Amino acid sequence: MNINFNKNNDNLVPVIIQDDRTLQVLMLGYMNEEAFSKTKEEGVVTFFSRSKNRLWTKGEESGNFLTVKSMDIDCDNDTILIKAIPTNTVCHTGSFSCFGEKNVKGFLYELEEKINQRIDDRVEDSYTYSLFQRGINKIAQKVGEEAVELVIEAKDDNDNLFKNEAADLLYHFLVLLKAKNIHLEDIEEILLARKK
Ligand code: AMP
Ligand code: ZN
Ligand code: ZN
Ligand code: ZN
Repeated sequence: MNINFNKNNDNLVPVIIQDDRTLQVLMLGYMNEEAFSKTKEEGVVTFFSRSKNRLWTKGEESGNFLTVKSMDIDCDNDTILIKAIPTNTVCHTGSFSCFGEKNVKGFLYELEEKINQRIDDRVEDSYTYSLFQRGINKIAQKVGEEAVELVIEAKDDNDNLFKNEAADLLYHFLVLLKAKNIHLEDIEEILLARKK
C-alpha cells in the first residue's frame, strides 16, 4: 500500500474501522507511518492518538482490541479502511460502536429478536406465539413442510413462489431455534469456524 501520509502536513491519515462481520462502522482514528507498520506487524490496531500525542494501541487499557482482518487504501491514497473483529465494545463510553449503541447484526438478527419477544411476552394474538405453544414437534414439522415446499418450488420456474417459500423456511427455522433455546449466533459461530 502506497499511503500518502503527508496530505495534511501532519503525517497522519484517517483510518476507518469497520466490523469485518457486519460491515458496521465502529470508529475513526489516525495513523502515522509508525502506527501503520506496528498495526501491520502485530495484526492488532495501533493508532497515533492526537490527544495523547503518542502511539495508542486500541484496547491497551480496556483489553478491547481490534484484530485486523484486512486493510485497504482509498482511491487517492489518503484514507485507510480496516476491517477488524473487536474483542468487545469499541467506544470508551461503553457503546458497541462510536457511532451508536447498537451492535448491528442485520435483518435476520432483528427478526430473531422480534420472534423471541413475541414468545417471551406471550403475545396472545401473534402467530409466532401460538405456533410456539403447540410445542417443539409441531414447530419442527412446520420446518419440514416449508423445506419440502421450497424443494417443490425449486423445481418450478416461478421465482416469486420460491422466494416466498424461502422466507417461510427462514422464519420457521428461527422459531425452531427459539424452541430449542439456541441462538442464531450459535449457528453463525459454527459457520464462521468453517470459513477458510
Ligand atoms: P482503550 O484503548 O480501549 O484501552 O482505551 C484507552 C483510552 O482511550 C480510553 O480511556 C479513552 O480515553 C480512549 N478511547 C478508547 N476507545 C476510544 C474510541 N473508540 N474513541 C476515542 N477514544 C477512545
Ligand atoms: Zn481519499
Ligand atoms: Zn467512541
Ligand atoms: Zn410455505
